[in-house]
Amino acid sequence: MLDKYLCLEKLARHRRDQVVVSTMSVASPWARQSDGPLDFAMVESSMGQAPAFGLGLALARPERRVIVLNGDGSMLMSLGSLVTLSQRPDANLGLVIVANGTYEVTGNQPIPGSGQVDFGTLARGAGCANVARVSDNDAFDAALPRLLSGPGLCVQVWQVEPANEPVPRPVYYIRERTRRLRAAVNPAP
Ligand SMILES: [Mg+2]
Repeated sequence: MLDKYLCLEKLARHRRDQVVVSTMSVASPWARQSDGPLDFAMVESSMGQAPAFGLGLALARPERRVIVLNGDGSMLMSLGSLVTLSQRPDANLGLVIVANGTYEVTGNQPIPGSGQVDFGTLARGAGCANVARVSDNDAFDAALPRLLSGPGLCVQVWQVEPANEPVPRPVYYIRERTRRLRAAVNPAP
């Protein structure tokens, strides 16, 4: 099993100009690593929507890679988005399903199918080609470059231990985060 915090630390160390979209129990620890204009915490009334948001961003700005740090509970809320993603294997997008088996920010209630559902198999069954299940540090280190640089769509399932993150409370309100992200990814007029 992986330590979520170590994974995020490594991701932050190697990340360059990729957009990082974070959700739920990853949003606060990621913001402690990085909270600039290219870091988009997607946490207000948007559970489950991060993969579709990331795909739209990646298609609109194909020159810039997008990393989506989704949760397993969040993934269950929009499983169909895996099929949508699979239709664009060229998308400059890395989707991470941070699989801790729980809804962490509300108290670690088990997700449906906890310990049973295999998100890698679901992603492959949806038609995604580059899918990796990552459950130890060596596999994580080996898989990180692909996540960060592509080419194209990849899906990684990080098998992590649940922790005790509270409900995320972003420093910037959603409109300000949106404004900052838009300014950062759009070319100057
Ligand atoms: Mg979870």
